Amino acid sequence: MSSFASCKKVELHLHLEGAASPHFVRDICKSSGTQMPEIFDKAGNYNWQNFDQFLTIYEIVTNLFLGEKHFEALVRHVLDKQVKENVIYTEIFLGPHLWSDRPNDRWERFLNIAIKVANEYEKKYGVYTYFIIVCIRHLGPEKALEASRFASKVKDKNVVGFGMAGDETKFNTLDFMRSFDFAKNSGLGTTTHAGEICGAESVDEAIKLGVTRIGHGVRSCESEETIINLSKKNILLEVCPGSNIALGLYSSLDDHPINFLFNKDIPVSISTDDPPFFSTSLTKEYQDLHNVFGWGFEIFSQINKKSLEFAFCEAKLKEKLIQQL
Ligand SMILES: [Zn+2]
Repeated sequence: MSSFASCKKVELHLHLEGAASPHFVRDICKSSGTQMPEIFDKAGNYNWQNFDQFLTIYEIVTNLFLGEKHFEALVRHVLDKQVKENVIYTEIFLGPHLWSDRPNDRWERFLNIAIKVANEYEKKYGVYTYFIIVCIRHLGPEKALEASRFASKVKDKNVVGFGMAGDETKFNTLDFMRSFDFAKNSGLGTTTHAGEICGAESVDEAIKLGVTRIGHGVRSCESEETIINLSKKNILLEVCPGSNIALGLYSSLDDHPINFLFNKDIPVSISTDDPPFFSTSLTKEYQDLHNVFGWGFEIFSQINKKSLEFAFCEAKLKEKLIQQL
């Protein structure tokens, strides 16, 4: 597609089911004889207009992958894309409550499938894939603790972190303190979505959870104090510009604060979040950032090195991969 296709990339913020392309979803439905859900527009893209509809469609898509065969096909589909995008290291969010509403053996079985495929792709293509177990915020703190306990239990199985996704407007961030403390005490890295749907104050609360990374966090730019706080605590923002624009946070990339944050020396990474939902890809993100802010290979290399510094994998692997950038 462009010169940035060949650029080696690191992606830290990607939701597994959110990376299922409409084409792939239709293929799965056809091959399994499942009735096609009404989630596409006339052009065949996901049809959503606001965040609530996006979450609803996301859940419908997730429910199509509750069989082991389909789930494995999904992991392969997502990693095929990462290989194509020249990703050398990726962390992927897995939300076990999307697989079943309480911990059971499916959680472990699905995780084992994801790890099996990840190991296969590492050997075959040299892409390193690790997982972050996420709780779904709108399901509440008790469910979050279940996810955190699960993450801690499977820590040695390519699971390097615990995080929180879902509806930012539900519950207070600090209600989840116990889950995050539990994960941190187990030696897991932690990240949470904040400063996307809600403003800078949600980033301030996320900082209190003691995370080292924040999913999005772009609305921290609405408060100078929050920016100073992020800088002091040295927290990385997992920025997903295309997602923010698709969800209407900013009207175009020209208005997006990623360049401002970068120039303020706030650590940022570049990710796609749920790429087919937002009509984006990692290469497209790089190309757009180049077109609007003039970012080139030098800056992308710098950002990817920084992303690896904040990755949740072991230090030895980070050092090895930083050499490749
Ligand atoms: Zn996200």
